[in-house]
Amino acid sequence: MVKSAVLGFPRIGPNRELKKATEAYWNGKITVDELFKVGKDIRAANWKLQKDAGVDIIPSNDFSFYDQVLDLEVLFNVIPDRYSKYDLPLIDTLFAMGRGLQRKATETEKAVDVTALEMVKWFDSNYHYVRPTFSHSTSFKLNGQKPVDEFLEAKALGIQTRPVLVGPVSFLHLGKADKDSLDLDPLSLLEKLLPAYIEILQKLAAAGATEVQIDEPVLVLDLPQNVQAAFKTAYTKLGQHAGLPKITLASYFGTVVPNLDAIKGLPVAGFHFDFVRAPEQFEQVANIIGDDQVLSFGIVNGRNIWKNDFTKSSEFVNQAIAKLGKDRVIVATSSSLLHTPVDLENEKKLDAELKGYFSFATQKLSEVVTIAKNVSGDDVAAQLSANVASITARSNSTLINDPAVQARMAAIDAKMATRAAPFATRLAAQQKKFNFPLFPTTTIGSFPQTKDIRINRNKFVKGTITAEEYEQFINAEIEKVIRFQEEIDLDVLVHGEPERNDMVQYFGEQIKGYAFTSNGWVQSYGSRYVRPPIIVGDLSRPKPMSVKESVYAQSLTKKAVKGMLTGPITCLRWSFPRDDVDQKTQAYQLALALRDEVNDLEAAGVKIIQVDEPALREGLPLREGDERAAYTVWAAEAFRIATSGVENDTQIHSHFCYSDLDPKHIKALDADVVSIEFSKKDDANYIAEFRDYPNHLGFGLFDIHSPRVPSLEEFNTKIENILKTYPAEKFWVNPDCGLKTRGWEETRASLTNMVAAAKNYRAKY
Ligand code: GLN
Ligand code: ZN
Repeated sequence: MVKSAVLGFPRIGPNRELKKATEAYWNGKITVDELFKVGKDIRAANWKLQKDAGVDIIPSNDFSFYDQVLDLEVLFNVIPDRYSKYDLPLIDTLFAMGRGLQRKATETEKAVDVTALEMVKWFDSNYHYVRPTFSHSTSFKLNGQKPVDEFLEAKALGIQTRPVLVGPVSFLHLGKADKDSLDLDPLSLLEKLLPAYIEILQKLAAAGATEVQIDEPVLVLDLPQNVQAAFKTAYTKLGQHAGLPKITLASYFGTVVPNLDAIKGLPVAGFHFDFVRAPEQFEQVANIIGDDQVLSFGIVNGRNIWKNDFTKSSEFVNQAIAKLGKDRVIVATSSSLLHTPVDLENEKKLDAELKGYFSFATQKLSEVVTIAKNVSGDDVAAQLSANVASITARSNSTLINDPAVQARMAAIDAKMATRAAPFATRLAAQQKKFNFPLFPTTTIGSFPQTKDIRINRNKFVKGTITAEEYEQFINAEIEKVIRFQEEIDLDVLVHGEPERNDMVQYFGEQIKGYAFTSNGWVQSYGSRYVRPPIIVGDLSRPKPMSVKESVYAQSLTKKAVKGMLTGPITCLRWSFPRDDVDQKTQAYQLALALRDEVNDLEAAGVKIIQVDEPALREGLPLREGDERAAYTVWAAEAFRIATSGVENDTQIHSHFCYSDLDPKHIKALDADVVSIEFSKKDDANYIAEFRDYPNHLGFGLFDIHSPRVPSLEEFNTKIENILKTYPAEKFWVNPDCGLKTRGWEETRASLTNMVAAAKNYRAKY
């Protein structure tokens, strides 16, 4: 019998129970015992769900109150002194590391004031992990035994599980040195860390665990030689300890082929590879499986929501069986299911046809089981024929195929992705029209999204106010924002985005080919969950999406108002994409839809248009090579298709809040003006890369994540420093990003100082 395995299950609960409980705990509304009880109930429900679905290998320790990497930091005592010094209960230390803690002293407790550890995107997903932060003084030891406790909890329910741990090489390589130990290479701690792994594995074995899943996802990255070598050191050492649970070494989200030498011959019981993301690695990875090792075959997508194609998947798994035999192949999810929504059955409003094409985490459980049964030779004829019918229906669906879009796609040519004239000509035309002073000032788009705005939006969605009432409310907000910007004397105004719930969802809801869930939450970090829209079919824009608000804003003022759109790559990355056409196709369809919007804005008199692409960086393929090179070309081209249909004197802006974006990629967009998050980066070398780039740039002068108001002197110093490397004639003045999470008071104060600083320098030049 071929077994089925799941690498991890969402821990947020079917109705976001975990979020509600953790936030209630943080606000002092429930006790720690009540919090733990919610965790325990979610775990029990998840295990039972998997057991009932017939999954053979069920994970444990995939649950976390915040983040599984942070759990390991706490377990192994990788807790910087600034957190441990308060002697908080372990769970509060964990939350303090994850999200910071500021608490006044009380009669019984001393004051606490500590910022959070760095949070980083988990590979190319929208999940964020808390970065392990090591010091010379880090001393590894076990704090508690969470993996053992949760294993025993499942065992008490009669469910044998396979505990999951992030492996030692990934744990170190994904970490960094703390401020006090900048010369420390985390990997040099391997020998000191391994005894802690051995100890927890021994305890798991003593508790009855026969196997563990050890995740080493860094295997899909380009690894320096010393990191590759660390695999041998680590796993040889673990292999020398008799009596430990059998190890399955898991990788996902890409190919491990460039690192095969690092894992070949390791003394582990088996390997897990992701054949959804990297089917092409099959021949090579199958060749390194030793005679006594098993292959866990990741074939049910842990990163997307589409129904599996059983016929195709079974054929692929059968290739592995032909090579290794039935008892050495396991059918598995490609990665943890953490990245998918919990249960499709919770969607009551989805179109029935579309619903038939989707599969969320709960549904994916029966998918692994069915494929495993099918390749075992069990009778699953009924499931197979239903699956074939569904897959065929989807590929022929009129909801998905739009001949008009496909025809337009076929007609895309290089001219569409090129502005009519080069930048110098455009600049002259734009200068003539706008006559901006030196150091023009602007913002990134959103102004404070007040409670009032959210309340009115909810009323509108629920139907308790009419469309006209809502429009009046939005217009009043726009007018307030325009008057405010006039008053503080910004040069390029925005309408403030009060009508937008989210920068992708707002447009997605107006683009044909998108679907939305009502409960499809996915954990992004801690208690923050997102509900990605789903790209289901060919994408097009039936009618203008943002023109009304921009035109209204422009009608209120003589100053230029900048129209505001979300770019094609960001729309793509922050959605669940289709799996039946490539990402480039979807990006280009979005680009065409946005191009129509850009052109309509221009025709309606909006002559400055910003197209935001904050997700451009995260779409970059994980490894160097052809795929990455191709992405940098098509991603930039998609942006240019969206923005190149305008006259020379229409000014295109773009914005990035990832300051680690390669300057090359920014230049490839050929936007007239680009604003970049910069206040925390403050790196002259980065600016220098733009010195000879003719198009204009605004380096974000203040952090919008904090209510702190920078003084006029601070702005002056920032501008002065940038001017050491960057010429005044190309220099825009703006914040790091949109102001939607800020309050009005600090917004007014910060922008007033920013404008004063710009005027100060204007006078000097
Ligand atoms: N225009 C958007 C805003 O100001 C940009 C948001 C972003 O870059 N994340 O909110
Ligand atoms: Zn931003």
